[in-house]
Amino acid sequence: MRIIVFVSRLNVEVQSQWLTMLKKQLTNETILLPHQISESQVKDVDIAIVANPDPKDLERFVNLVWVQSLWAGVERLINDLPRKQVKLVKLDDPQLSKTMAESVLAWTLYLQRNMPEYAQQQNNKQWNQLPCVTSNELRVSILGAGKLGIAALGMLKKLDYQVSCWSRTKKQFNGISSYSSFSGLQKMLSKTDILINLLPLTQHTYHLLGKALLSELPTGAKLINFSRGAVVDMKGLLELLETRHLSHAVLDVFEKEPLESSDPIWSNTNITVLPHISAPTNISSATKVVAQNIEKYRENNVIPNPVTVSAGY
Ligand code: NAP
Repeated sequence: MRIIVFVSRLNVEVQSQWLTMLKKQLTNETILLPHQISESQVKDVDIAIVANPDPKDLERFVNLVWVQSLWAGVERLINDLPRKQVKLVKLDDPQLSKTMAESVLAWTLYLQRNMPEYAQQQNNKQWNQLPCVTSNELRVSILGAGKLGIAALGMLKKLDYQVSCWSRTKKQFNGISSYSSFSGLQKMLSKTDILINLLPLTQHTYHLLGKALLSELPTGAKLINFSRGAVVDMKGLLELLETRHLSHAVLDVFEKEPLESSDPIWSNTNITVLPHISAPTNISSATKVVAQNIEKYRENNVIPNPVTVSAGY
């Protein structure tokens, strides 16, 4: 008999919602929590479904072949796999990409239509009409053109923004300027009004967006960070916001989450703080994707699109 282990550090209620939905989708599978698996059953576990797992909980399963993450970001998990041979599959859910694209659009509009400034004006009882920039005049650039980046680029393109993207490998997208390499990044930044970060956190992207690179943006540019906090070097960003080289930042992710209540970022009027909500996993659609991956694997023994560990994402 084959067993799937579900390993998470979710609260009991949320964990039980996931388990219920997974069992509904995978009626031919035995899905158990680690403590429900006896020593004699350990060798039967070949797949783990995980959400923020304690790596120690995976070590016991000596015949584990692959791990299905319930999140799209796997930066921590990639270093926490119990053995080299164990493959990692991240969540590739079109619904998640759509949710992220909607967030990108929502917060692009928020910045385009000066909402942070109007909120401040209301606070100060100020009646002051700011210039309205049309979408075809606004240069919006996305860092990362993967699953989430592509969906966001498509959404922005539909609304007529001037769209660019930067990725490790150069892309060919209709009507979108694509850049790669460091010099390509500098070139793109010099022509960007709103910069949106959707890069995974790797050794190459850690603190990539610091004072030097963000200074390449034109004066008054804005930043949205929706991927991982540590891609941005906060010290550099805060300096550029203070000197008004950058006018606003929307931050959904931070190096340490939740943001501590004593953190001065909370009261920085040049920053909009969001509590990591730009693209929450949808249990219903995600469990369908996971079930399809597992069914296909049972049919043909092929692990669905595993992460390239050496690339770090
Ligand atoms: P993905 O499909 O793996 O795409 C990653 C993109 O980044 C690719 O275009 C890749 O280039 C590019 N890239 C990676 N390293 C690079 C480097 N050193 N230089 C230039 N480009 C680089 O990832 P995804 O599914 O779009 O997800 C992106 C990230 O979003 C995740 O890693 C996660 O951190 C974050 N996320 C956040 C939330 C939230 O709620 N805030 C939710 C889900 C995910 P190539 O195309 O050339 O490979």
